[in-house]
Amino acid sequence: MERTGTLFVISAPSGAGKGTMLTALLAADPGLVRTVSVTTRTPRDGETDGVHYYFVDAGVFERCIQEDRFLEWATVHERHYGTLKSELDRQLEKGRDVVLELDVQGMRNLKALRSDVVSIFIAPPSFEELERRILKRGQVSPGELRTRLRTAEMELQSKDQYDHIVINDDLDRAVARTAEIIRGERERRDRG
Ligand code: 5GP
Repeated sequence: MERTGTLFVISAPSGAGKGTMLTALLAADPGLVRTVSVTTRTPRDGETDGVHYYFVDAGVFERCIQEDRFLEWATVHERHYGTLKSELDRQLEKGRDVVLELDVQGMRNLKALRSDVVSIFIAPPSFEELERRILKRGQVSPGELRTRLRTAEMELQSKDQYDHIVINDDLDRAVARTAEIIRGERERRDRG
């Protein structure tokens, strides 16, 4: 029987270390791929169009909504983010498991669409540590820091809605724990 991929949604407040964790997870697991989302936010240093995101203007994003091309989309930190249906199909066709990096709204929307989604929340060890990490990353204005912290507070309150919670107190440990969750879910699916 052909094996169909599992969909994993990973969410984390800005600064929780999700990006670094995902890079490590994907590098260690050839059976795992991620989708590339569309966003109206501007690229940060080191981000490449088509790799980290498809960076578009508000007009293009609006047209994708009108043409019903999004599986889900949400407004986060006053910017739009969305997953194209074609992007998910492209990754599922590879027969691998797929990770979607979504905010909490995206996770809820996807869970409502598909019952086979496994959700993982990456939490920072504390709120103070989160603020420190956002500041350390730089490239945020005081206004943006406030918005990100406000959003983070809201997102942290939603963590119990996830199937799994991983605390990122130590990067290697958090990556290992997430890899273990992914392995466990695969085994469960293959048995079922
Ligand atoms: P950032 O601007 O830091 O890359 O991402 C901000 C937030 O948007 C993160 O919580 C991230 O997971 C979320 N996000 C990224 N892509 C998507 C998407 O396609 N849909 C949704 N709903 N959220 C997304």
